[in-house]
Amino acid sequence: MDKKEYVVVVQCHIVMERCSGYFCEKAFHERTGGFSSYPKEKRYRTLYLTCGGCCGRALHRKLSDLVKMTKKQENMDKEHIVVHLASCITKESYHGPPCPHLDYLKIMIRNKLGLDLREDTYISKKAQERRQTGLYRT
Ligand code: SF4
Ligand code: SF4
Repeated sequence: MDKKEYVVVVQCHIVMERCSGYFCEKAFHERTGGFSSYPKEKRYRTLYLTCGGCCGRALHRKLSDLVKMTKKQENMDKEHIVVHLASCITKESYHGPPCPHLDYLKIMIRNKLGLDLREDTYISKKAQERRQTGLYRT
């Protein structure tokens, strides 16, 4: 965790047709939800991008480019990068069920690209209540 300097948030391409990503950014700014373990006083580089659309394969190119560029431009190794899958990918929500390609995305990011991966970004109170009542399954 100490090594991390660059936080990449991957959001669902379909959901982003109508979501600005505001709550993901707010969650990071306030270090809540999936970002609650990040120290508030530390400054991070951040990048917000979408998976590129189903099945998420374009993400391989996007993240490979990032790894290449951060190395070339700043001599930053990929150990300093952490990828967060947004909650609209990992969980059922107002926007719909979780991503049907979630396992594919995880394998691509962890196994193929060798990047550190975490799940979740913004956690909505209402969605949490719905998970507790069983209305949302994840
Ligand atoms: S987690 Fe919420 S705020 Fe973030 S991209 Fe998905 S729908 Fe938008
Ligand atoms: S692959 Fe998953 S995250 Fe990407 S657009 Fe399709 S449903 Fe959304």
